[in-house]
Amino acid sequence: MLHSMSDSRAPEPMRQHGAGTPDGFRRLWTPHRMAYIKGEGKPEGPGADDGCPFCAIQAMADAEGLIVARGTLVYAVLNLYPYNSGHLMVCPFRHVADYTDLDEAETAELAAYTKTAMTVLRAVSGAQGFNIGMNMGGVAGAGIAAHLHQHVVPRWGGDTNFMPVIGQTKVLPQLLAETREVLAVAWKAAD
Ligand SMILES: [Zn+2]
Repeated sequence: MLHSMSDSRAPEPMRQHGAGTPDGFRRLWTPHRMAYIKGEGKPEGPGADDGCPFCAIQAMADAEGLIVARGTLVYAVLNLYPYNSGHLMVCPFRHVADYTDLDEAETAELAAYTKTAMTVLRAVSGAQGFNIGMNMGGVAGAGIAAHLHQHVVPRWGGDTNFMPVIGQTKVLPQLLAETREVLAVAWKAAD
């Protein structure tokens, strides 16, 4: 796994900023989402200034926004609503909804970052497989359809078994911060 869970204290719930699209597995994660994502806003509209989290976190410090690596045209960020530990998203800096809207350079760097994400997750966590992909449009399951993002979800044999275990409300914010730190260091080494 990505880290040891040695902290048996029960820290107060804290709000973690970040970006993500709640979807299929949300009910598994409801317990800890409740603790710190109360009122977590989805965008009010399709524009970059309508509260798009993928735009907003670009202005944050990496640790605050859970950003793992920044490229020239794209960046990699931990999902605030992870399916699994280490669930990353690769997004263009530009507020673009559709994959066909990316120019060639953005397309190339998004692909390169997806590969690096796999390399890093294998190195750090021994990921045995991945689910990788994008949901284009709300009807396809995109929670934040206005700003495209490629999911990179590491998988392990039997990984659904530990999800309830790590799904403890008060631990997750620290878990995400620690995960981000580990991945960011490994990303520098892989880049
Ligand atoms: Zn945006």
